[in-house]
Amino acid sequence: MADRAESAATRLDYIRTRMEKARRRFGAPPEAVELVAVSKTFPAEVIEPYIAAGQRVFGENRVQEAKEKWPGLREKYPDLSLHLIGPLQSNKAREAVALFDVIETVDREKIAAALAAEMARAERHLPCFVQVNIGGEEQKAGVPVDDAVAFVRHCREVYGLDIVGLMCIPPDGQPAGPYFAHLAALGRMAGVERLSMGMSGDFETAIAMGATHVRVGSAIFGKR
Ligand SMILES: *Cc1c(COP(=O)(O)O)cnc(C)c1O
Repeated sequence: MADRAESAATRLDYIRTRMEKARRRFGAPPEAVELVAVSKTFPAEVIEPYIAAGQRVFGENRVQEAKEKWPGLREKYPDLSLHLIGPLQSNKAREAVALFDVIETVDREKIAAALAAEMARAERHLPCFVQVNIGGEEQKAGVPVDDAVAFVRHCREVYGLDIVGLMCIPPDGQPAGPYFAHLAALGRMAGVERLSMGMSGDFETAIAMGATHVRVGSAIFGKR
């Protein structure tokens, strides 16, 4: 356990140092970039040393999995913030609103409607990101690039959702920089301040393009 605690602190420190270097190079203000530690597939006993080492913001991609491991951790650490970063089905909206603090994957009208209804019912108005299919990939979730700005407006005006940013997962096997730059441009057009982009392999590039949230999994927790 001591070993585990030490290695959690070391790994977090290493990622935070790299983030800080990228932030300085980009010239973003201090505290401008938040680390979302993506803990999917890892059990609570692996995650806990990272919480003990000071990490407070985590990302999970499945509602069911989050439900199994997070309520216990939250009871122990009430100041955690949990982001949903995976696709949401409308029949899971209730559980998602109860479990998470930020929803990063609003990507279609039906989900916007379901979330708005659940947030009103639960009186829990969570900040949301709109996920953009930045590479126009058939198999990927996200609003088409051409619809992104209008969709943000629609979510705000019709559903009253608190859309704070855009999120994307660029195509595999291509330089991510241009996709991140594109998301940043869309964010400016949509009038949102936050950008969730960058994973283990490219978070420094994302920070250089203006990411405010990087979602880092394997570089922190190891191979899944
Ligand atoms: C798994 C996942 C990540 C983290 O990926 P790593 O390459 O392990 O850092 C980030 N974002 C989303 C949406 C994910 O599903």
